[in-house]
Amino acid sequence: MPPEKHALLSASSASRWLKCTAAPRFEEHLPERTSEYAEEGRLAHSICELKTLKKFTVMTSRTYTTRLNKLKKNPLYSEEMDKTSDLYIEHLIEQAMLYDSTPTVVAEVQVDFGEYVPEGFGTCDNVMIGGDTLSITDYKHGKGVPVSAVGNPQMRLYALGALKRYAPVFGDAIKKVRMSIDQPRLDSYTTDTITVEELMAWGENIKPIAQKAFSGLGEFVPGDHCRFCRGKAQCRARANTNTALEDFKDCVPAASVPPDAMVPQEFSHIGPHGNEVRPLLSDAEIGDLLIRGKELVAWYKDLEEYATKALLDGKPIEGWKLVAGRSIRTFTDQDAAIQAAIAAGYDEALLYDRKPKTLSEMEKLMGKAEFAEKIGGYVTKPLGKPTLALSTDKREAYNPAAADFAGVAANE
Ligand code: SF4
Repeated sequence: MPPEKHALLSASSASRWLKCTAAPRFEEHLPERTSEYAEEGRLAHSICELKTLKKFTVMTSRTYTTRLNKLKKNPLYSEEMDKTSDLYIEHLIEQAMLYDSTPTVVAEVQVDFGEYVPEGFGTCDNVMIGGDTLSITDYKHGKGVPVSAVGNPQMRLYALGALKRYAPVFGDAIKKVRMSIDQPRLDSYTTDTITVEELMAWGENIKPIAQKAFSGLGEFVPGDHCRFCRGKAQCRARANTNTALEDFKDCVPAASVPPDAMVPQEFSHIGPHGNEVRPLLSDAEIGDLLIRGKELVAWYKDLEEYATKALLDGKPIEGWKLVAGRSIRTFTDQDAAIQAAIAAGYDEALLYDRKPKTLSEMEKLMGKAEFAEKIGGYVTKPLGKPTLALSTDKREAYNPAAADFAGVAANE
């Protein structure tokens, strides 16, 4: 897995340090948190790497099986990893088919982009080169938020590093780079293609920003990017932004009526002093409040998470303590409990529910192809529950009318 965790300006944190140049040196002094998710991601990457080598290089089935079985022994292994890594390989095959002739394919490539970012290095999950195109693909196992490859600085830094690494072999033949991010667990596959010239111009542009971030003379700039920062709960700059509640007053002016305000007439009136009284917030004001409050809610959750951990570690957080949350009752021994119920005269049939297997379980049982052929016609995918999202969100806007036809579309 990527050794880039040791790089101060890592490619994976570039979207943060390019905006908040103080972040790298600030985070450097805070303890690194290794989560089970990160360990799980590392294992999934190892499986992807092994399958890439099997598919694109010479590897005996025996070696492959031995190595895969070893990985499967990891307690974090799940069958889902087998599926997501298969989807990743399918996507790599599609990528390879875009070339006129078989490309050179390499997995887990160490790249150095120190020419643009001080001490910058990292690992590309996959690099393909053929004709005039260099393709890099990054597998992401997380299923928190989809990450787009479009304009993605992590991918661009990897691409700069890969170009440098392969320049001695391919010289000036490479004219464009294709960068893809695969997140099979979120069904998210995105690609961005730019020319080598554009990529290098971008690299030159970020050089002074990277220098600033490396020097320790950067500026704290809070924003969306804070959510993955190691200091997200303790950062004063972020706290200052969120505690400036005065900002909220600006979006709820006392009297003026925005031209597009949708306040029902009966609620708005002129008060006894000739001032306009608007007891209802307009939809425009609610939209504005939601945007301003979003970061506040995220920050509060980070504070809660920090305080919970601190209390668990025995550190006092004034005014707070930990209590046991709600729990549900379970049998200590379900089989014994059922036997006792039968002994008490209850019919066994009443104690069990006969349940069909889930769709995914049946697909696993039958295999994808047979499942699609024999019972695929009975599968429908209803439109998900409407969820509030910012208008800038990349997903298509929810269309209530489309919900009626969602099943039809899924069967096509
Ligand atoms: S929490 Fe935000 S503002 Fe503070 S250092 Fe991290 S990225 Fe910068």
